[in-house]
Amino acid sequence: MNPSATITALPTVALPAGRSLSEDRAKAGPIQSVPSASSTDLWLEILRKLESKMPRGQFITWFKNTMILGNEEGELIVGLPLPTYLTWHMEHYRVMTLEVAQEVDPSVRRIVYTVDTGLKDNPERTIDLLEHFPELKKRKLPGRQEIKLAEGIVTKILSTKYTLENFVVGTNNRLAHAACLAVCNEPGGKYNPLFLYGGVGLGKTHLLQATGSTILKNHPRATVVYVTSEDFTNQVVESVQHGKMEQFNRRYRTVDVLIIDDIQFIANKERTQEIFFHTFNTLYEEHKQIILSADRPPQELQLEDRLKSRFARGMIADVSKPDYETRLAILREKAAEHHIFLDGGVLEFIAQHVTRNVRELEGILTQAVALYELEQRMPTVRAIAEIMSKLSMDPLKDEENVGFTQAPKRRPTFQEIMEAVSRYYSVSLQDMTGASRVREILLPRQIAMCLGKKHLGLSTTRLGELFGNRDHTTVMNALEKIEEKFHSDPQLLREVRTIEVELGLA
Ligand code: ADP
Ligand code: MG
Repeated sequence: MNPSATITALPTVALPAGRSLSEDRAKAGPIQSVPSASSTDLWLEILRKLESKMPRGQFITWFKNTMILGNEEGELIVGLPLPTYLTWHMEHYRVMTLEVAQEVDPSVRRIVYTVDTGLKDNPERTIDLLEHFPELKKRKLPGRQEIKLAEGIVTKILSTKYTLENFVVGTNNRLAHAACLAVCNEPGGKYNPLFLYGGVGLGKTHLLQATGSTILKNHPRATVVYVTSEDFTNQVVESVQHGKMEQFNRRYRTVDVLIIDDIQFIANKERTQEIFFHTFNTLYEEHKQIILSADRPPQELQLEDRLKSRFARGMIADVSKPDYETRLAILREKAAEHHIFLDGGVLEFIAQHVTRNVRELEGILTQAVALYELEQRMPTVRAIAEIMSKLSMDPLKDEENVGFTQAPKRRPTFQEIMEAVSRYYSVSLQDMTGASRVREILLPRQIAMCLGKKHLGLSTTRLGELFGNRDHTTVMNALEKIEEKFHSDPQLLREVRTIEVELGLA
């Protein structure tokens, strides 16, 4: 990047107090004209490069309704539809945009942002991103695309999404991860076959794919085949059907690394097991690497004994459920992959309440990302709790919930109650005790008062003092109001209950 290049934000077009954004939509921003063809082309070219650098959701959210509004003497004026975009672009996209703009047009020296509310939803002045950047369905579905390696052998593409670097190592998967690394260093060596087992959604496929990709990266000419046991079975069935078993065998012998995911599904399929047994032996004798996964250890599989004993010759490692710290680390990693900066409290809440497997952790995170990208709302603990209950992952009912069962049984302090409520509703402690009467603050304040009274037995006078020297009748009023709300709003009761559980008051 040109070192002298700078990025400046022009003063935003401030919204007059009391006017809503929609009112302002009618009012155009500083530059009204329809963009010239060259601006449109230049912006399209820049957008095309930007699109490849971020998740599609993010790209569409933050680059729709944007346009180049001027380009003179190296100064590229980029129009944004709303003031919120300005902060966001300044923080996240300015360097990237400048770099890309310079690749396309080396004369660009600076990027100047300006907010022009007239761009919003104005097809004449902006580019239709959905039309120019249609969703490439296949592109984002790793593991779905198939490639033909040699006549007859098909492998699921090894997804670049799964790497050994972005796999978070914890006590639950340390051995499995180390074994995969060892196999990458020496395919067909000591750890052959490598057999990984464990429950659903705990990272087996991730490790298998990552190991395959790494070997392929180190040995680009190697034939690395990743198949699920269903694919393998289908190939066997097809070959049998068309009398092409010999070809099948010949072809599989050219494979250098054979990865079969979820091998448990060849249980009760005698012919497939037999063919697999021969393929296994051939490859094994030639020191080709074999990697397998299953939902249980080899000895518990419903497979021929001779197969089970072959599996036991190599390295067997399990992946189990991650503990709280690993769950939190995984969430941080995934949030970073999504380029989303979630509040620490929100991540902790998810890590505490979603304990079954990593796939569910990811599911909740994806919902949070959607909330963020599509609605431009920063997810709060409250929003996450809502999502969880919609997905029937009720934090109040989950028996496996480590976070809750280990919650301290001692009485919380007033400060802890305040902190729990403030975290849940994303309201600052200052606001809780301050004077504001907006609903978003009033409600958490009333709830904190109510919990203080209920669990700490605080008097209305004392509560008044603790909440910014309020009069005790004000506190009484607040308590009455919240009691009324409890009667009419079961959702609110649930929310309070969640906070109580978090405080160990269940
Ligand atoms: P399995 O094959 O065991 O059912 P997957 O490998 O499909 O599980 O894992 C489910 C999801 O969880 C994947 O998106 C994977 O990337 C993620 N995942 C699981 N464990 C980890 C981990 N330790 N670090 C990062 N991501 C993980
Ligand atoms: Mg899997």
